[in-house]
Amino acid sequence: MLIDLHTHSTVSDGTELPYEVMARAAASGLSVVGLTDHDSCEGWEGAQRGALAHDITLIRGVEFTSEWQGISVHLLSYLNRPDYPPLVEEIAKVHRARLDRARVMVDMVAEDYPITWDDVVAQAGPGVAIGRPHVADALVAAGVVGDRTTAFKEVLHNSSAYYVPHYATDTIELIQLVRRAGGVPVFAHPGSIHRQRVVPDEAIEEMAEVGLAGLEIFHRDNSRPQRARLQELADRLGLLVTGSSDYHGIGKVNRLGEHYTSPEVLAAIVEQGLLEPVGAELAAVGL
Ligand code: AMP
Ligand code: FE
Ligand code: FE
Ligand code: ZN
Repeated sequence: MLIDLHTHSTVSDGTELPYEVMARAAASGLSVVGLTDHDSCEGWEGAQRGALAHDITLIRGVEFTSEWQGISVHLLSYLNRPDYPPLVEEIAKVHRARLDRARVMVDMVAEDYPITWDDVVAQAGPGVAIGRPHVADALVAAGVVGDRTTAFKEVLHNSSAYYVPHYATDTIELIQLVRRAGGVPVFAHPGSIHRQRVVPDEAIEEMAEVGLAGLEIFHRDNSRPQRARLQELADRLGLLVTGSSDYHGIGKVNRLGEHYTSPEVLAAIVEQGLLEPVGAELAAVGL
């Protein structure tokens, strides 16, 4: 039984509709899939239909953008209420900040490359928090580069002259907010080779104290030494350990099910979360 708890759809920077992500997950032999678009719960309804039609289980989730003392932290939340007012407000704040920042970045990129703001908006679609992936897609559409990965490598990487930072929620506050919304917070790819700085042990200890539930250790971006370090922390702090693909359709090389989570850990997440899984009965998939 394969459980993959981290995927993206067109509601953020994936390239397939939520329904399609679920269809593809079923075709890939997955039993349980988490849809975790960046800063949005908008894909849940479509994914729900996909899960029911394709007889798999959906874990409704979100991947929030946050910051611990200036270091970027992606925080997964599973099974939270989508309508908890403070969480809704925070998401709106993040969307506004991302929009302002994207405009500044696109103005700069447009001076050197043949893209416009409208091109970028067209790549993102309605209601989507615009980010670098959509700027990358506009560069691909304009024929500047062949694919999104190349656009990041050559134009949009973190140390690029076009890069502009954006507001992100404080990680400690966000963990508490997610818990109040009934969600189960898991630190996404904490040992990512792509981050400028990895958070220190003290950060994860502090996060565990305020309610962090787990660490996503099995993820292609975590280096081998980081995985060993994170496993030691998880054991010491009693944190759950998850594994996931971080699938983005053709937007990234990550393939569905390339890493997965154990049934025991999924059961603990379901136990702690406010919402129920959707679709196939967990009992039917061996839980
Ligand atoms: P932003 O939050 O707008 O700065 O963009 C960050 C997002 O871009 C991340 O969530 C990733 O999904 C995506 N991303 C980062 N690096 C790459 C890359 N090299 N190739 C494709 N997507 C990337
Ligand atoms: Fe992404
Ligand atoms: Fe992430
Ligand atoms: Zn992700």
